[in-house]
Amino acid sequence: MTERLTGHTLLISLIAKPIRHSMSPTMHNEAFAKLGLDYAYLAFEVDNSTLKEAVEGIRALGIRGSNVSMPNKQAIIPYLDEISPEAELIGAVNTVTNKDGKGHLVGYNTDGIGAMAALTDEGVSVKDQIITMTGAGGAGTAIAIQAAFDGAKEVRIFNVNDDVFENAAETVKKINAHTDCTATLTDLADQAAFKTSIKESSIYIDATGVGMKPLEDVSLINDPEMIRSDLVVFDVVYAPRETKLLRFAKEHGAKKAINGLGMMLYQGAAAFKCFTDEEMPVTYIKELLF
Ligand code: NAD
Repeated sequence: MTERLTGHTLLISLIAKPIRHSMSPTMHNEAFAKLGLDYAYLAFEVDNSTLKEAVEGIRALGIRGSNVSMPNKQAIIPYLDEISPEAELIGAVNTVTNKDGKGHLVGYNTDGIGAMAALTDEGVSVKDQIITMTGAGGAGTAIAIQAAFDGAKEVRIFNVNDDVFENAAETVKKINAHTDCTATLTDLADQAAFKTSIKESSIYIDATGVGMKPLEDVSLINDPEMIRSDLVVFDVVYAPRETKLLRFAKEHGAKKAINGLGMMLYQGAAAFKCFTDEEMPVTYIKELLF
């Protein structure tokens, strides 16, 4: 790494807090090295209190692009010059480009693209499928909207009645207004409706983060009858690699039990393309990191 850094090296940043646990710096730096691209990728602990100054810094220093994670994905939008149609619809940005370092900042959202690519990698297509989802926060919204754009027949969102519920209602409205997919929202407390919906779906996506610490012993599905040999179960969590949900799905014979690593890889690959116009060597990165 140090051997390849010179006065010409271009910087890509990652701004979020907390962020020290992220795999993104390793993933991008290894991909730059593999392709011989003169870039470096560094993580910066930035939350909403210093976000405006950080964005000014990107412009002032000619940083060529940035990934953006929580809590900045929505908050960064007013500071950008342009956002892509999918980021506009999702209402969140995870990738910013500063082409040629000229200070014109464009926001994108690659989370949904990453999730769809991860499913494709497992031979799963959302086209014409009924999908049941739990969670409609940052990740869930991006996945629901991308699945709708990619031809899902129905996206049925179940969310607990918390402060994200309103956002979920907005997401459903947007999908119904802008795509051919039919979206619905139901309170997750209606367990009978949740069970019926899973029964009618070929894909279940958990985008809540339940299954991660401190909820590693929790799964939103505990009834073996909800798992079938023609049901794909996808959990966005990748730490741990196998959540309680995925363990349960495997034990009860689900068609597939997919963790969030692929989504993380492919959202990064889509961001890498935005930054460099090059394809990330995903097979190499998978071998190295997974
Ligand atoms: P968020 O806070 O925006 O949304 C969380 C969602 O989960 C909300 O809909 C909330 O209502 C729901 N929820 C929270 N606690 C719940 C509970 N106990 N029971 C049922 N529902 C509950 O979070 P986010 O940014 O969308 O992130 C969610 C998860 O996705 C995190 O674990 C994050 O690490 C993961 N994620 C993974 C990737 C990836 O590339 N694999 C990318 C982005 C996010």
